[in-house]
Amino acid sequence: MSLEPRVCVVGSANLDLVARTERIPSPGETVLGYAYFEAAGGKGLNQAVAAARSGAAVAFVAAVGSDTAADSLVDIAEADGISTASIKRVPGPTGRAMITVGDDGQNSIVVIPGANGLVDPAHVQVHGPTVARAQVVLAQLEVPITAVIAAFEVARAVGATTVLNPAPAVELPDELLALVDLLIPNEHEAERMGGVDRLRRLGIHTVIVTEGRRGCRVFDASGERRVEAFAVEVVDTTGAGDSFCGALCARLAAGDAIDAALTGANAAGALATTVVGAVPSIPHSAAISDLIRLDGRGAPPT
Ligand code: ADP
Repeated sequence: MSLEPRVCVVGSANLDLVARTERIPSPGETVLGYAYFEAAGGKGLNQAVAAARSGAAVAFVAAVGSDTAADSLVDIAEADGISTASIKRVPGPTGRAMITVGDDGQNSIVVIPGANGLVDPAHVQVHGPTVARAQVVLAQLEVPITAVIAAFEVARAVGATTVLNPAPAVELPDELLALVDLLIPNEHEAERMGGVDRLRRLGIHTVIVTEGRRGCRVFDASGERRVEAFAVEVVDTTGAGDSFCGALCARLAAGDAIDAALTGANAAGALATTVVGAVPSIPHSAAISDLIRLDGRGAPPT
């Protein structure tokens, strides 16, 4: 009998403020928009929700501010059964993304990290025992790199798997590179970091490049191979990458081998494109299993 799969996510939580307008205003210009909505976001929260919906027990190490957005983000995490005991509350604003979407599909985004900027090594260390209980520790780069390093050090000390989704893409310090078992960039991020060959030369054991409707490619000690995407009716690709990362980590924590876990991750990413938004589009394990079965790839390993 295997242990309960446990994933710890260290990352951001944002409230997304989304305005729809015919076209994005130029500097100094005011335009009238025609729709507005608010939604939970931030790569950390999205990926925590994705791992939880894929069946893992998830702890979320994060920070929110002292405003009403803080309560709604914590409520959203709890609604998916995520442990929020490691979310600290700090004075000031919760992270926000102000997103303007034009009718041509273009967008312009201002992210105010707010509380996310205060996820620091000290906070990670306070919750070290929580991090150490997970089989997989997953992080992105929307919180300070020093906090990610601190979390991965705890993970390494207990033999947990460290997974980094390097978004937004930045030059990774050597100290962090040395702590990453699995790196999951999309094509643009992989390119901005100098390509897969360089990343593997720098010592990362497994690099998984997500390639949208072409699925993903994996590069590890067994060589390079593609795991095909699932054919779905695409409505909105927001949340695909986050669903992929969270689902992959839940499956790795459950003991799946990498290729089986990637099939589940591709199915999760595909399903996320069939529903508008990020958190609402993140699929549960039952839907993921159904898609894998329907596609004829056999029953997913448990
Ligand atoms: P990001 O959203 O981070 O840019 P991708 O666009 O590469 O990441 O998508 C992540 C994963 O989601 C892909 O590897 C794939 O499994 C799935 N996915 C994304 N777009 C599609 C699509 N159009 N059809 C099927 N699967 C998709």
